Amino acid sequence: MTTQDMDEIVTRFAPSPTGHLHLGHAASALYGWRLARAHSGRWLVRMEDLDADRCRPDFEAAILEDLAWLGLIPDGPVLRQSTRAAAHADALAKLRALGVVYPCQCSRADIAAASTAPHDLLIGPDGPLYPGTCRRRPASTENAAWRLDTARAAARTGPLAFEDAALGTVAVVPDLLGDIVVARRDAGLAYHLAVVVDDAHQRVTDVVRGEDLRPATHPQRLLQALLGLPTPRYHHHGLVWGPDGKRLAKRDAALALATLRARGVTPEQVIAEVQRVADVALQTPS
Ligand code: GLU
Repeated sequence: MTTQDMDEIVTRFAPSPTGHLHLGHAASALYGWRLARAHSGRWLVRMEDLDADRCRPDFEAAILEDLAWLGLIPDGPVLRQSTRAAAHADALAKLRALGVVYPCQCSRADIAAASTAPHDLLIGPDGPLYPGTCRRRPASTENAAWRLDTARAAARTGPLAFEDAALGTVAVVPDLLGDIVVARRDAGLAYHLAVVVDDAHQRVTDVVRGEDLRPATHPQRLLQALLGLPTPRYHHHGLVWGPDGKRLAKRDAALALATLRARGVTPEQVIAEVQRVADVALQTPS
């Protein structure tokens, strides 16, 4: 199925409840909401709560409160990724049956040590990539993490592309992020696989997220092709930067929506502040 087969526009905002929303999240949420409204579509919220150690119910409640304060009410029930374990396990089983994933027993320390060895150094957009240790030296499946064998996967799918509202058609670089983890040892699944399975489940036609996640779209498109899932259009918008010139992070309390609200800032002021990001993005063809 391609995006052309999907008629109603469905966008989603997919925060991880590991902290409070900040202005960058507000921009993302507003852009997705406006895109859906512009096409009489639906705007959904999905809690990406797979990381049981870091996700907290009080953050989830605060996120929904912040969104409601901005007037952004989801057009449907909030989906929690933690309720999707069966579908996630099914997707991993399919990848295993295709022979495009391998078990990995490397610890963080192993990976750090191996990826500083000069002959193994593979650099990705955010730093060194996994050097493929367990791909070359088969590991036990017992309590293993699972990684995508990107070379095998790409050989299976052939060349792929995705539609990016800002860049047009983008050719997929399958190994841009290296052999990504598709299932963590502790969580049963990891971000990239959960996102594509759940975007398809929610029938998302348009993924709106910050441009820091554009590299993630490459392996995610590959996973969609392997699993026979539809491909949404992608809208990677510009980021909102803090006064120190750094990208906003959840740990920066100063521009958290909750902090701004407590200081008497109005929702209209927040929307005015972030709508440059949403408006610029919405002017590009979708
Ligand atoms: N859950 C991710 C985050 O909070 C966003 C995932 C996505 O939009 O694909 O950064």
